[in-house]
Amino acid sequence: MTVATEILAEGKTKILWPGNQPDEVLVEYKDAATAFNGKKYAEIPGKGELNAKISGLLFQLLEASGIPTCFIGGGSRPTELVYKRLTMIPLEVVVRNYAYGSVVKRFNFDEGMPFHKPLVEFFHKTNDDPQITEDMILELNLVPTESVLESIKVLALQINELFVAYFSARGIRCADFKLEFGLDKNGHLLLGDELSPDNFRLRDQQTGAVLDKDVFRLDLADLAETYRTLLQRLEQPVAANSVRKQMYQAEVLVHSRKNILNPESKAILEGVHTLGYGNVQALNAGKRFSVKIEADSLIEAEQQLKKLAETVLSNPVIEDYELRIKR
Ligand code: 5GP
Repeated sequence: MTVATEILAEGKTKILWPGNQPDEVLVEYKDAATAFNGKKYAEIPGKGELNAKISGLLFQLLEASGIPTCFIGGGSRPTELVYKRLTMIPLEVVVRNYAYGSVVKRFNFDEGMPFHKPLVEFFHKTNDDPQITEDMILELNLVPTESVLESIKVLALQINELFVAYFSARGIRCADFKLEFGLDKNGHLLLGDELSPDNFRLRDQQTGAVLDKDVFRLDLADLAETYRTLLQRLEQPVAANSVRKQMYQAEVLVHSRKNILNPESKAILEGVHTLGYGNVQALNAGKRFSVKIEADSLIEAEQQLKKLAETVLSNPVIEDYELRIKR
């Protein structure tokens, strides 16, 4: 029970309490719904529990697929989850597969239009959450290093792959969602915040029915009822053949490690010099493999390709490899 303890922080829809361990927090999901930057507000009994359950389920999905998240487990009450304590990065990271919401207003896309590839957009968590460029994120030191920003983008796209496949297997289109990231006490980047339908745009693939917070924003249906139905769909077992595998194309470039004598390269370099290109100083011949692989997600494809490259396509003692994956 969270009684007589001091609140660490309180937002519009969540309360953070101290956890049982110093590096843990207890996140209580409130029965509150807000929209339009807090201008629209309602108390919705049962929402906290539904959001905690859906978030917990999606965090578990990501953890099981190797995404580093803040999620530890359920709390003692159904509205609570236990998280690792993070120092949050003040960015909203939005991934979009289809045009809805603010991107339609900003760029005049037709609503529901699919993008050619998933788009990542950043918004600065300040008063009115303005859109922000990567250069400005670095200029304002909102992330510790440029590589952290790069990792955020990579993770956001990997998470998107997982969500698209997961929802699609349940007849749901994952149109867009918002993520927030933080750093743990060791400086490791983890996914934080929540993964409830408040943060997503989800549409039934057959009927187009709205299964997310747009029902509240646009007064389309009862929010608790919508979220309850969504949770039921997510909890139902999915037939194995409804999980569609994706085809990935990759290139594996293998070359000998620097300073390791490669007889083939040496012979070619001698030939090059003989042919009059005396100014060629160094030459490293390599091998290029073009690979097509079927996998459930980009992460799975990457894991298998790395193993293949390390164990079969290259000799790890004397060679390095470079992996390039395309969808
Ligand atoms: P948009 O930029 O179109 O308003 O939102 C894109 C996606 O991010 C939507 O799924 C939306 O629910 C989510 N999102 C954007 N800003 C916020 C926010 O401040 N809070 C929450 N919970 N979700 C947001």
